[in-house]
Amino acid sequence: MTLKLLILGGSGEGAALARALADDPRTVTTLSLAGRTEHPAPSPVPMRTGGFGGAEGLARYLAETGTHVLVDATHPFAAQMKRNAVEAAQLAGVALLAIRRPAWEPVEGDHWILVASLDEAAAALGTTPRRVLLTTGRKELAPFVAEAQHFYLLRSVEAPLREALPPHVTAITARGPFNLASERALLKSHAIDIVVTKNSGGTATAAKLEAARALALPVIMVRRPEVPEAPSVETVEEAFAWLERHHDGTISA
Ligand code: NAP
Repeated sequence: MTLKLLILGGSGEGAALARALADDPRTVTTLSLAGRTEHPAPSPVPMRTGGFGGAEGLARYLAETGTHVLVDATHPFAAQMKRNAVEAAQLAGVALLAIRRPAWEPVEGDHWILVASLDEAAAALGTTPRRVLLTTGRKELAPFVAEAQHFYLLRSVEAPLREALPPHVTAITARGPFNLASERALLKSHAIDIVVTKNSGGTATAAKLEAARALALPVIMVRRPEVPEAPSVETVEEAFAWLERHHDGTISA
């Protein structure tokens, strides 16, 4: 019997775990995406797209597909889906593993302003016009549209909708990983004086924090949302090892 897995993706870890499992004959893996990205990277395993209809819908899907293990590899800010994953795994009686990458922590030389939401981040920019590197996503721009006195260098993986933009904006699209030299050059060439980011953690987009430190720029850091407890690991490698143990313990190959 093979181990049937559903990966809730939308993160680098979800895609990397799917790649690691694609050719593993002991597993059959499906990658699930919410459908927010118009052009997702090609998946090495079968992919399904769109919501399940809450925790009950996900539990139904797990039961109907005979899934053995649910891997929550959603982005640290996808709090609703993390709650659904915990509840659905309980309802359906399947094993759950969450991949939870550690949050970024400030180091000496950092000047972080911690906030709890994007609304607070926009308010923390203040009334004096600033030049802002904004990396919090192309779909959550309303708080910054309301703070129209600032210039925004908006970087997102896919292009934002034109009508959703603040008035003073340069929008660029880029997908990490980024490095210190290019991040520093970006901040300097646009005369950026403050950075706004979610505390996504991980290495792919951390160079902007190093660049801000090097240039002595403040960073408005949006704290992570509360998420429920779940059996978890921090990396794809640890997830793979956990799955091997699970496979050995419960499924006869
Ligand atoms: P969310 O608020 O936690 O989830 C909202 C709803 O979207 C969920 O209730 C679920 O709908 C659906 N959904 C979320 N992830 C899904 C998945 N992997 N497969 C199928 N349905 C999913 O999530 P979000 O913050 O909108 O993020 C949506 C997706 O973008 C996630 O997959 C996340 O990993 C990725 N992402 C989010 C961020 C961010 O900053 N929030 C950043 C980068 C990537 P139903 O209840 O109908 O099942």
